[in-house]
Amino acid sequence: MRVGFVGLGTMGGAMAANAARAGFDVTAWNRTPGRDTELHGLGVRIAANPAAVAAASDVVITMVSDTPDVEAVLFGSEGVASGAAAGCLVVDMSTISPSATRDFAERLAAQGVAMLDAPVSGGSEGAKKGTLSIFVGGEAADLERARPVLECLGTTITHVGPIGAGQAVKAVNQVILAGTYLGVAEGIVLALKAGLDVEQVVGALSGGAAQSWVLTNRSGRMKDNDYPLGFKVALHRKDLGIALGMARELGASLPVSALCEAIEAGLMGQHHADDDMSAVARSIRALSGLEA
Ligand code: NAP
Repeated sequence: MRVGFVGLGTMGGAMAANAARAGFDVTAWNRTPGRDTELHGLGVRIAANPAAVAAASDVVITMVSDTPDVEAVLFGSEGVASGAAAGCLVVDMSTISPSATRDFAERLAAQGVAMLDAPVSGGSEGAKKGTLSIFVGGEAADLERARPVLECLGTTITHVGPIGAGQAVKAVNQVILAGTYLGVAEGIVLALKAGLDVEQVVGALSGGAAQSWVLTNRSGRMKDNDYPLGFKVALHRKDLGIALGMARELGASLPVSALCEAIEAGLMGQHHADDDMSAVARSIRALSGLEA
């Protein structure tokens, strides 16, 4: 199967590498040249634009930042839509708006191109290891077409409903993460203030009910007050914007997500937009007089 990748950032670059290692014929493009060094040795062809990626691919995976960015790579000049033949399948794995996703799918369907939304969870570590959780919205038959390549990107692939449903599930995931990161940050601050051995605390709690991916993988950063990527603060704030928009439309109230979004907005105003999301601990630490 010929697989295209549009967007070779933290996630897309690692995912394209896994597809190439698994033996797929991979063509890729990134807006900023030079983010593809790892891919050269794996036989990945670098195309001039997204249209050229689509022309060379049966399945095109998009992995860019936000809703307007997916629209740009799909429908901009030299976008995927201008190069894709009828029968091509677009799989958007970015985290974007569910309603915009449905609109993009309709526009692609008008030219015989199918679309799945397949956002992911599992972090940059999951992208590197090929262990992502993938939430798929769209037609079951299209998922079966994409499944061989999705299986080398993730270990849990769940068909959650029609187009846009994957993004709705991802919004739920990001809402749960908001509370988890804030809760772990508060726990680490309390442990530091109490003079406890934080690593010992994390080890002790990890066998009990407070266990979580965030506690295991991000509490060390919160203890050290150092937040290498990861998952950018700006991207999680974008995701909470999507979730809070859904909540307004649906009449749901999400106070913890709203608080987390406000904390992240403050961090972005203090030049921490590109820190890992665990940097919410900066703000929680500062409230307790620990260095910000
Ligand atoms: P990233 O490292 O910031 O990379 C973003 C990618 O999107 C880059 O390749 C960037 O190109 C491209 N891009 C952005 N705007 C564009 C535009 N208008 N036109 C063309 N290309 C554009 O982000 P990431 O961490 O890989 O995240 C990608 C997506 O996955 C996001 O939707 C994010 O929410 C989601 N996600 C991330 C994680 C994580 O842990 N990082 C986990 C799950 C889901 P340039 O190189 O030119 O800037």
